[in-house]
Amino acid sequence: MWDDFALLAGGQRCSTDFTNTNQVLHRDSARFSTGPFVAPRWVLPTVKLLALISPIQPVIASMVSSRPRTYSVEAVVVRASDFAEADRLITLLTPFRGLVRAVARGARKPKSRIGGNVDLLRHINVSLNEGRSLQSVSQVQSVSSLRGLHSGLEKMSTGLYMAELAERFSVEGGSNPPLFNHLVRMLQVLDAEPMHPLMSRWFEIQVLRLNGFTPTITQCVDCGAELKPQGHVFSPERGGIVCPECRAAESDVLLPASLNTVKLLRHIARAQWEAVRPLHTGEDELRQIGRILKEHLHFVLDRNVRSTAFMDEVTRWRSNT
Ligand SMILES: [Zn+2]
Repeated sequence: MWDDFALLAGGQRCSTDFTNTNQVLHRDSARFSTGPFVAPRWVLPTVKLLALISPIQPVIASMVSSRPRTYSVEAVVVRASDFAEADRLITLLTPFRGLVRAVARGARKPKSRIGGNVDLLRHINVSLNEGRSLQSVSQVQSVSSLRGLHSGLEKMSTGLYMAELAERFSVEGGSNPPLFNHLVRMLQVLDAEPMHPLMSRWFEIQVLRLNGFTPTITQCVDCGAELKPQGHVFSPERGGIVCPECRAAESDVLLPASLNTVKLLRHIARAQWEAVRPLHTGEDELRQIGRILKEHLHFVLDRNVRSTAFMDEVTRWRSNT
């Protein structure tokens, strides 16, 4: 009975290995050619001493100068704010360096060459100078324009929510190419396709999976028993579906999870977007799965995702017009 989730997908099953790490390895090759080199601790003092006593002192001195290094990286702008008189402070999500914070000097000037490319949700190739305190943008090129994303409030608010969620699961210097690929992929889907009620749900459960926080949805999270057709609830605190025998074991918050909701969760956790897109789901299942994933994310992150409220408000406004 629990294997008939295929009915929801029109009989299709797909592998969840949808990421393309090799592609990013290729695209972000600058990391390997210009990334930081960590030398043993004794190297710098020794070279400095040689610079003082050697006849080739000018050459060696230039090698240890504090001139900023420049590197290029593929990125998505996940946060941006005004800074000083005409600058922008941006946070970039990158495949191998995680979050990178940088200043785009002069980006708000009308004739700036980089201004339009450092706006929120831009997918770019960017050259950065590594300064002592803050990195600065020297050049930017657009990778994909994602113009459709900026054409409507609903798509924009959903894109901002996805970007914030990816940011919350990232740290500075933390390599995570699958997460970067997943965000780019979903921004491209948002850009090219009409809105779909499962877009955000699929994005959420894949982000959880890529970071090792997939909820337990194939058996009882407490006793491991096979799930029966009725009486399930979801416990964000315990991290999965709880069977009727275990539901009273703790006094945590329990969320309704119908049979169809559990089937839907199991399907979108393992399917590619192409196998999720054809699904037509009922209002009850959408409501339940939305609440389950929202509460599970809240428990994993230990806080709310701020842009959720904005996205929900826009979605409600759209459904009432
Ligand atoms: Zn149980």
